[in-house]
Amino acid sequence: MALTAVKGFNDILPDESGRWHYIEQTARRVFERNGFGEIRVPVMEKTELFCRSIGDATDIVEKEMYTFIDKGENSVTLRPEGTAGVMRAFIEHKMYAQDPVSKLYYLGPMFRYERPQKGRYRQFHQIGAELTGAHDPLADAQVLNMLVSFFNEIGLTEPSLQINSLGCPECRPAYRAALRSFLEERIAHLCEDCKRRFATNPLRTLDCKVPGCVEATAGAPSVLEHLCSGCDEHFTTVRRYLDLSQTRYDINSRMVRGLDYYTRTTFEMVTGLLGSQSAVAAGGRYDGLISQLGGPAIPGIGFAMGLERVALLLGGQEFCSFPDLFIATMGVGERDVAFRLMAGLLKSGVRVEMDYEGKSLKSQMRRADKLKSRYCVVIGENEVLSGKASFKRMADGFQADAALTVAGIQSLVGTSEQ
Ligand code: ATP
Ligand code: MG
Repeated sequence: MALTAVKGFNDILPDESGRWHYIEQTARRVFERNGFGEIRVPVMEKTELFCRSIGDATDIVEKEMYTFIDKGENSVTLRPEGTAGVMRAFIEHKMYAQDPVSKLYYLGPMFRYERPQKGRYRQFHQIGAELTGAHDPLADAQVLNMLVSFFNEIGLTEPSLQINSLGCPECRPAYRAALRSFLEERIAHLCEDCKRRFATNPLRTLDCKVPGCVEATAGAPSVLEHLCSGCDEHFTTVRRYLDLSQTRYDINSRMVRGLDYYTRTTFEMVTGLLGSQSAVAAGGRYDGLISQLGGPAIPGIGFAMGLERVALLLGGQEFCSFPDLFIATMGVGERDVAFRLMAGLLKSGVRVEMDYEGKSLKSQMRRADKLKSRYCVVIGENEVLSGKASFKRMADGFQADAALTVAGIQSLVGTSEQ
């Protein structure tokens, strides 16, 4: 039987990895400009961490986690998201003692046992950011602006920002009760999952994509009409800061998010281009999470974006880099000269290719074309004798002579390496 990858786990081949580098580099640049530093945490944590942070009555904990017992009889879980592990490390290393405000970002694979489809996989990748230590709505606005800047700088006009407020432990119980009494009369129309959610987590019914549930919950009371004065003012001020920085957004009072730890501001970057995989990035404020995990009462806000979905939105653009120069030889006699030049040029940062197998000149030229080399040179006896050769720029056929030395070639060809 042929060995293949585990279902829902993908290989990223060199053709595609240029796109990934572009996404990662853009994120690092934007986040670091905003003062965020990278934190790298393990891909596996104790299962309890996710139960305590994400919440027992969420889709992730109920059905999506890769949980198993290791050889030491400990229950461990491949991380389904990044915030829990980052906050565990934040508390464990008392990072709050070094600086009252901390700004961290992370990137890497996440694991959820879901039904694989376009934009939804069992191993997928997120880049996320977390800002802790600030209650002020200004922090919310900076994090949102940073997320929007990322999409602008990467060159995507889709997706767009939607925001909401989920209130706090003061005002959410009253909203939950109002929603429950609204749902009570419609419970027969809800799907089996939502019937269960009605008891455990009624807000999640607003997020259900089953058409019957969408219809049954249309006209449900709005969370924004149930905010306490503190949450209402916070939300108004976040919006004022977004307006001040000319960041466009829509309010979506039905956005509830799938994790229990969110309070106040929640948000998504939403696209219409990926079917039901409409959220490209999502996040919110989590003022209770750090204390819930045994740390001090420190507020936080953050988001995570799904790199596969960003990559899909970038579509067919090419992100590969190409050789600067292909050195072809007339015969085997010139291979030593060619190889010595290639070795020297590579050390100086010029990306050079040559043939490995003693192929004919014609087949070497075909390879130079295939690799999309920027320049090409053919070295024969005459070139070796004269110590110079003619270099051809492949895009427009422009030709120029240069000495067959590392310095001579480098000054003509340059380097595309940053
Ligand atoms: P969805 O509603 O699509 O299931 P989610 O609410 O579960 O998304 P989050 O937990 O907020 O997603 O994760 C943030 C981002 O991570 C999502 O917006 C999405 O881009 C990405 N993401 C989540 N789950 C997957 C997955 N299984 N495969 C690929 N990307 C994913
Ligand atoms: Mg999900």
